[in-house]
Amino acid sequence: MPLSDSKTSASRAEVSPRTQAVLDRATGALIGNYARLPIVMDRGEGSLLWDVDGNQYIDLFAGFGGCILGHCHPALVAAAGEQAHKLWHVGNTYHTEPQVEFAERLNQFAFKGQAFFCHSGLEANEAAVKLARLRGSTSSPQTGSSKKRWKIISLNKSFHGRSLAMISATGNPAVKAGFEPAVPGFVQVEPGNFDALASAVDDETAGIIMEPIQGEGGINLYPADYAPRVRQLCDERGLTLIFDEVWTGCGRTGKWFGHQYFCKLDAPRGGPASAGPTSTESCAVLPDIMTLGKAVGAGLPVGVMFARPEAAALMVPGKHGCTLGGNPICMAVARTVFDVIERERLVEHAARMGERAVARLREDARLKPKITEIRGRGLMLGIELKEPIEGFVLKAARRGVIANVTASKVVRIAPPINIPAEQLDRGLEILIDAIVGDR
Ligand code: PLP
Repeated sequence: MPLSDSKTSASRAEVSPRTQAVLDRATGALIGNYARLPIVMDRGEGSLLWDVDGNQYIDLFAGFGGCILGHCHPALVAAAGEQAHKLWHVGNTYHTEPQVEFAERLNQFAFKGQAFFCHSGLEANEAAVKLARLRGSTSSPQTGSSKKRWKIISLNKSFHGRSLAMISATGNPAVKAGFEPAVPGFVQVEPGNFDALASAVDDETAGIIMEPIQGEGGINLYPADYAPRVRQLCDERGLTLIFDEVWTGCGRTGKWFGHQYFCKLDAPRGGPASAGPTSTESCAVLPDIMTLGKAVGAGLPVGVMFARPEAAALMVPGKHGCTLGGNPICMAVARTVFDVIERERLVEHAARMGERAVARLREDARLKPKITEIRGRGLMLGIELKEPIEGFVLKAARRGVIANVTASKVVRIAPPINIPAEQLDRGLEILIDAIVGDR
């Protein structure tokens, strides 16, 4: 599909009667909990989107990371269609092949573990916290304590979802405001500060939850020794370590999973291990539980709690469940997501495109005075602006590029990981124009 941008941003800015009609109907019909733009999207193909007025957009945000393979990838359309003609839903009283096949992919590309399926990132995290508490409800062989361990430590600036428990885990006061009192048992500490974390652990602590890179919090990374020290602490104190890979999973960061950048304390250092096609790198710091959402269903609602077998064994019948979790259509798509990423070598592509984007952004002389930092890994990047730009997301969309702003002044770039170089370049050019306010 060629890139065309025949309409000027001025003509794009006009809200057409067709768009206005949908906006008017939406006002009466939809709850206003999203800050929606006055744009009605109609269709997508690869990394391109079109609205109902025919305006084209380069998608540099992939629906908050969900559309990891872009829009309407033919292999995913085929997988969904084939499964839709065969079996939609049967309930978890029975086995289905797509569930097992997808779980096998996780074993191949992450670590040896067992999967529980649900619909969203927050549900996966809820399941993980329940499992951590289950583990904590038995006596601790490490400390010998028979005290029930139920508290979960998370990090400031984290985001783990919008249920009552997950807003309590989330390290952002704005997310909790108005919903107090918080669910008890969640404690937040400064990210990257190991001493603060270690001193928050007490004999009632069950586990620690952290994102390998903080997404909503502003694309924040940790010092190199942080995650390995956290792992070591969990081993010493018998704590469950949960990596929330809802943003960082499925190739987004230039590794299959974000934690594959973490190297054990005794592993040779020298920066992040290079992107590779395989999964478990021998130096990687593994969690007890990894949670997935967003990209794993490529835009369909899929959440996964993936636990190492010794932890997973506690989830016996009656402890947890999800009626539509593991739905065959979603599973057939999720399995195919992994097949396509492997076949098309998209983990490596994401790493390469990420380097290309960072180089392009860093070399732009117009951008330099406007920004403080560019950070991230692979195609999970943040440009921290010196000053917030009011209405930036709409301004960028009017120019033909979809991006996002988080933590008030971090412009996020997270396109589909199969974005062609040409579209990435063009998207960045438009984005830079929008930031510097030129043209
Ligand atoms: N965890 C992380 C790291 C996230 O970024 C998000 C959503 O942005 C969630 C969990 C919640 O996922 P969902 O919106 O699918 O419930």
